[in-house]
Amino acid sequence: MVIAVDFDGTIVEHEYPKIGAPIAFAIETLLKLQQEGHTLLLWSVREGKMLQDAIDYCESKGLKFFAANKNYPEEDSSTASRKLNADLFIDDRNLGGLPDWGVIYHAVKGMERGETSFEKIMMSSDENQRVRRRKKNFFIRLGEMFENNKY
Ligand SMILES: [Mg+2]
Repeated sequence: MVIAVDFDGTIVEHEYPKIGAPIAFAIETLLKLQQEGHTLLLWSVREGKMLQDAIDYCESKGLKFFAANKNYPEEDSSTASRKLNADLFIDDRNLGGLPDWGVIYHAVKGMERGETSFEKIMMSSDENQRVRRRKKNFFIRLGEMFENNKY
């Protein structure tokens, strides 16, 4: 799949225009998805030097995106649609916020298997026990999000 990935608040904590602290397992998960054949696009509001800072940060961790704010490196931004042609977007502004990266990984695997139900995708896992634990965590997280007004 072609996966568009946001930077601030998704790979690192939101400290824009600075580079925030790493978000646990973001880089590791993205590297694994890349190794498994997915095409990763960086998808950020950052432009120019700020975008380059994000690219450099990821590359310093061994993660090289196929393209940044483009579908492919040679794409002409002046004529291309502003919306990327990705199969999937990972962004902290997604409905429900950013799940743990372990959840994201299993959700991508669920989508690869052709799963279309939101609940089943978000609970996807190879082990039933982990599904149950994650299920609890997911709804606790949702509840906490609303309690803290973080939406
Ligand atoms: Mg963001």
